[in-house]
Amino acid sequence: MASAADSNFTFASLPHPAPVPSDTRDQALANPGFGTLFSDHMVMIEWDAGIGWHDGRIGPREPIALDPATAVLHYAQEIFEGLKAYRLSDGSMALFRPEENARRFNRSAERLAMPEMPEDMFINACLELVKADKDWFPSVEGGSLYLRPFMFASEPFLGVRPAKQYKFLVIASPAGNYFKSGAPAVSIWVSSDYTRAAPGGTGAAKCGGNYAASLVPQAEAIERGHDQVVFLDAAEHKWIEELGGMNLFFVMDDGTIITPPLGGTILPGITRNSIITLAQEEGLTVREERYSLDQWRDDANSGKLVETFACGTAAVVTAVGRVASHDGEFTIGSGGPGQLTTKLREKLVGIQRGTVEDTHGWVKHID
Ligand SMILES: *Cc1c(COP(=O)(O)O)cnc(C)c1O
Repeated sequence: MASAADSNFTFASLPHPAPVPSDTRDQALANPGFGTLFSDHMVMIEWDAGIGWHDGRIGPREPIALDPATAVLHYAQEIFEGLKAYRLSDGSMALFRPEENARRFNRSAERLAMPEMPEDMFINACLELVKADKDWFPSVEGGSLYLRPFMFASEPFLGVRPAKQYKFLVIASPAGNYFKSGAPAVSIWVSSDYTRAAPGGTGAAKCGGNYAASLVPQAEAIERGHDQVVFLDAAEHKWIEELGGMNLFFVMDDGTIITPPLGGTILPGITRNSIITLAQEEGLTVREERYSLDQWRDDANSGKLVETFACGTAAVVTAVGRVASHDGEFTIGSGGPGQLTTKLREKLVGIQRGTVEDTHGWVKHID
């Protein structure tokens, strides 16, 4: 019986009848890709009105049978998180700021009228899964075990109201590099026909519905030969918000960095927050303020803007080299990753991997 170390909540450990054979697993782990390979186990916890969280267990990863009337299939009451487990340079395992994921998960839950989960229960669910699947770390450079905690309305009910039953799960996917090409800088398409989030909407929540709404503009970006889509604000179609799943930073030639302010329409990225701290430590001034598409183009053309990068857990820090919209294209700096982008990326990855000192207590070691 596996039990959570510092919580009263315990996870039953169900035996796995047929884990993936080690030679098949190791072969897959040599080229994991992103999001297509999964580990042997999963965590599942139930929530029922009147009972609360119960029946926590870790067992074989397997399909879940759902009644066709299950609420999430109709009204998309679903939220998720994404965090990585790393192997440190000394071979031990760690999570990066998982308490921030736990907090954000609860803020998303609140917005979607779902039950909140004690932070230590969320973190312990992640820890239990990593321990059970410790042999699933990819052997490739930059590899990690990507964890996907999520919760959905599991009550069979077609009325529109918050469900009275939910399932929380954590699955794990060994991950290599997020961008297929492993490209040094990405090209992005400015969506002017679609927006990601509006004031008062769900833009700050990590809910599946936000992603469903971003698929058409993302497909448009790909069709036009770009890697990602960047969204503008819903009210004026003028201010840069973020990519479909990453926050943006603009680096000026005077050592100032600008990033769009949080305020309900931008997802509060944990990577974003970490980068702000690291940039300030480098002596840079970080301004959380609105930055328009027109300004971005002008500053890139005049040379005032020297770098732009996107950041998020999956791809960590990625340089933006080229920007295209209905009004034409512009290149940022040399079109490749700039100095500061590279420096901040190396510092953050170094902390995550244990080669740079963790002065902020961001790394949670798994024993
Ligand atoms: C998850 C996500 C991010 C990045 O958040 P991290 O905590 O840094 O991984 C940025 N934008 C959107 C829309 C997201 O869903």
